[in-house]
Amino acid sequence: MHLARFPRRRYTPGFTPLEPLPRLSALLGGAEIWIKRDDLLGLAGGGNKTRKLEFLVADALAQGADTLITVGAPQSNHCRLTLAAAAKEGLDCRLVIEERVPGSFSPEALGNNLLFDLMGAANVRMVKAGADLAEEMALDAAAVKAAGGHPYVIVGGGSSPLGALGYAACAQEIMAQAFEAGVAFDRLVVASGSAGTHAGLVAGLVALNAQLPVTGINVRRQRAEQEANVLKLAQATADFMGTPQPVADDIVALDAWVGPGYSLPTREMVEAVRLLARSEGILLDPVYSGKAMAGLIALVREGVLKKGERVLFLHTGGAPSLSAFGSVLRDPAFN
Ligand SMILES: *Cc1c(COP(=O)(O)O)cnc(C)c1O
Repeated sequence: MHLARFPRRRYTPGFTPLEPLPRLSALLGGAEIWIKRDDLLGLAGGGNKTRKLEFLVADALAQGADTLITVGAPQSNHCRLTLAAAAKEGLDCRLVIEERVPGSFSPEALGNNLLFDLMGAANVRMVKAGADLAEEMALDAAAVKAAGGHPYVIVGGGSSPLGALGYAACAQEIMAQAFEAGVAFDRLVVASGSAGTHAGLVAGLVALNAQLPVTGINVRRQRAEQEANVLKLAQATADFMGTPQPVADDIVALDAWVGPGYSLPTREMVEAVRLLARSEGILLDPVYSGKAMAGLIALVREGVLKKGERVLFLHTGGAPSLSAFGSVLRDPAFN
C-alpha cells in the first residue's frame, strides 16, 4: 500500500486522537475499550466523510471541476461535509436530499437545514425515497453543464474505491498509533452504512497484514446484503490500490442494532448516546455512532468482547445532527 501516490487534499492537521475509555470500560466490566476520534476530523463538524473527501475532492480538482454534486438523507453528514469542502476549495455544491424515511424531512429541523444555509449550497432539492439517485444527480450535472460549468458527481456517502482510500489510510494511521501507544488491539468496531468506511478499513488492514478483525454494526441493511456490499467495495478498493484482496471471512456486518430502520430510534441507541456523554464527555449521534456503540455495549454485556481483550471503537462522527433529534433523545419511550 503506497497511498502517497494518490492525489489528496488535507483537511485535518495530523492524526485524530486515539484514547482509552476507562470509565466506560469500568462501567461495563468487560473488554478494555478505546476510541479513535474521527469525530474530530477537519471540515465543518468533522466525521468520517472528511477522510473520503480528501481523495475525492483532489480528483475533482485534478479534473477541473467547479461544482460538486452529491446525495444523502436529510441529516446527511456526507452532504454537510461535501458542502464544507466545496466552500473551502471555492467550488459550488449541489445537493440531492433523499427523504429515505417517508415523512422524516422537516423544514424546521435544525442540524443540516441551518448548516446548508450557512455554508451556501448553490442548490438543494428533495427527492422521494426510492428515487433513482444516480439519475437525479445526472440531472444536476446536466444543469451545471448547460450553464457552462464542470460538475463532479460523488456517490452517496463517498463510498467509491477512491473515497474508501481514506479509510485504508486510516487503517495505516491506527496501526501506527497503536504501535506508538503500545496497545495491541484485538478487534475494531465501526458503523457500517454506505460501506466505504468499513470496506476501506478492511482493505487497508488486509494490505498491512494486520490480522485485526473488524466488526461492522449495520445502520440500515440486513446482514447478508451488507456483508456482500462491503466485500464488493473492499475488493474493488484493494484492486484500485494494487493490494491483496480481502475475502468473505474478513467481513462481518451485524444487523441486531438497526432497530425499525435507518435513522429510526432505538432504546439501545439512546442508552449508548447518554452513557458515552455522561461517562466520557463524548457525543455520539442517533443514526450511526449511537447504534454502533449500542452494538459494542451489547457485545461486551453478552461476553463476546471479554475482559482482557482490547477493542477499538471508531467514532465516525455525526454529533452536528444531534440538535435535529432532540425530541427523540428526550422521548420517555426511549429512556
Ligand atoms: C456516513 C456515516 C457512517 C457510515 O459510514 P459509511 O462509510 O457510509 O458506511 C457512520 N457514521 C457517520 C456519523 C456517518 O456520517
